[in-house]
Amino acid sequence: MGQMIEGRWDCSSCGKKMIQGRYKHCPGCGKGRGADVKFYVADPNDVVAADVPEKGPDWMCEYCQSYAPDSAKYCPNCGAPRSGKDYFEVQKEQAAAQAQPQQESAPVTRGPASKRAPILLIILAAVAAFFLINSLIPRNADAQITAKAWQREIAVQSLEWVDDSDWTLPQGAELKETAREIRDYERVLDHYETRSRQVPEQYISGYSTEYRDMGNGYFQSYQVPQYATRYRTEYYDEAVYRDEPIYDTRYYFKIQRWVYNRTLTASGEADTPYWPEETLAADTEREYGRSERYALKCANDKNTYTTELPFDQWQALNIGDKVRLKLSSGGSILEITKAD
Ligand SMILES: [Zn+2]
Ligand SMILES: [Zn+2]
Repeated sequence: MGQMIEGRWDCSSCGKKMIQGRYKHCPGCGKGRGADVKFYVADPNDVVAADVPEKGPDWMCEYCQSYAPDSAKYCPNCGAPRSGKDYFEVQKEQAAAQAQPQQESAPVTRGPASKRAPILLIILAAVAAFFLINSLIPRNADAQITAKAWQREIAVQSLEWVDDSDWTLPQGAELKETAREIRDYERVLDHYETRSRQVPEQYISGYSTEYRDMGNGYFQSYQVPQYATRYRTEYYDEAVYRDEPIYDTRYYFKIQRWVYNRTLTASGEADTPYWPEETLAADTEREYGRSERYALKCANDKNTYTTELPFDQWQALNIGDKVRLKLSSGGSILEITKAD
């Protein structure tokens, strides 16, 4: 258990400091302890016998506003019967009265700075949109077709014997040899290793002395433990694994596969396009893709333009035709129509 310490208080009437807790009236001016009095510990060595003070807090007489000891049924100052709040209730009221004015402060006004950022963003977005739209607006130009060109291609595959290997022998393959090879790895437990780690733990490194206000001029001291962290080494076993190879039979073989062989090409200018023709070997060759491109060139007194078109559109335009062009901001043809 702690010790009983005599507290001190200050007189708000005459300004006398460090008045001993045992006095209910100021030795300087004779005024009783008021509601504004708050006890404090001035010297931890002001120890008194544990049975000296009252157990409970003083109470404040409603009639004369002076403190009376807990054991008194009548106010020793004016003789009125016990009434009113105790020291702690008075302290709580004092604290609440001090806190109130701060809550009525005016609401915080927002400066214009927070509204400026969005306006700047809107302006930047508008400028960006202006340039984007401007660059997308097409321009028109008149021109005359000066040249046409076309190209048609057919890719050809041929059936060839190729070397390959796999974990199974495919149908139609000619086996050359087999070998035992690593197909996969399995993780297996090899051994355990002892490792260490630092484990934190809390411990009481000491005590500090605190004082509990009893509300009657005295304080009860008590010990508060102080905690600190220290580390201890903990050992544990950790599993160590290794990769164990899994062997299997690998088949090396020859097999027939379709592979790229060559491209057949036909091309021309203003003539009618046709597909390249070549007789393919019936069992060992095949087509595997066709592609076609149609281009034309047109010009006016300032520029020359080239573009590629779908077949039908390309075919409908002839050298010498007058055309109306829709051009991108970069100068490439977006759309081409006969002008007549
Ligand atoms: Zn005084
Ligand atoms: Zn009284």
